[in-house]
Amino acid sequence: MNLIFLGPPGAGKGTQAKRICDKYNLTQIATGDILREHLKNETGLGKKAREYIDAGNLVPNDLIIDMMRYEIEKNRSKGGYLLDGFPRTVTQAEALDELLNDLNDKIDVAIVLNVPNSELMARLTGRRVCPSCGTSYHLIFNPPANEGVCDHDGEELFQRKDDNEETVNNRLEVYTKETKPIITYYEKQGLAHHVDGVGTVDEIFNLINEGIDSFVNN
Ligand code: AMP
Repeated sequence: MNLIFLGPPGAGKGTQAKRICDKYNLTQIATGDILREHLKNETGLGKKAREYIDAGNLVPNDLIIDMMRYEIEKNRSKGGYLLDGFPRTVTQAEALDELLNDLNDKIDVAIVLNVPNSELMARLTGRRVCPSCGTSYHLIFNPPANEGVCDHDGEELFQRKDDNEETVNNRLEVYTKETKPIITYYEKQGLAHHVDGVGTVDEIFNLINEGIDSFVNN
């Protein structure tokens, strides 16, 4: 089974993706996480991508498509995968279809997490992340047991550089302009399943599971 998670920044894609991957034994391929690794390791791609990421703009399609071709080919031998943060433009969605066609593979369902803009700003500016295991917390809505450190491994939490108000505003605009149209792209293919992304982590997880079951078992 191969899945796509769509939704604005701060919709909870990463949190839910981890849980869904555990349940169905899928590999999570998160473009943002992969790019941040490139930035940290100062690879050629990392150097080219940094200015876009820091400003909350999309990294150019050709760089992302090459990166994802490599990641999907590398991971597909392990079984199914969940694409988190890709595709983000219609050009990327078309390139993904071509790649899957070449690999004789397909997407089973695209889960669309819907959260109103008014909620996203507070979620993102209060977000804190574990640098080691990637778990996301929120200063008010989902704080760690001990202030500033991860519940799982005790690492010091950090705030992503692009989770400040100005950059978040830009990321939300970019989402509306560049990424939202691909929801229609997947609706036309009969692959989109909308989920209300406001609620507890467990409630949303259950809704996503119901959606997956209705696609995969039919
Ligand atoms: P994320 O962690 O998914 O919020 O992504 C962080 C940043 O990485 C985005 O604001 C973009 O600059 C870049 N990025 C992640 N995925 C993509 C993509 N599919 N296409 C272009 N840029 C991306």
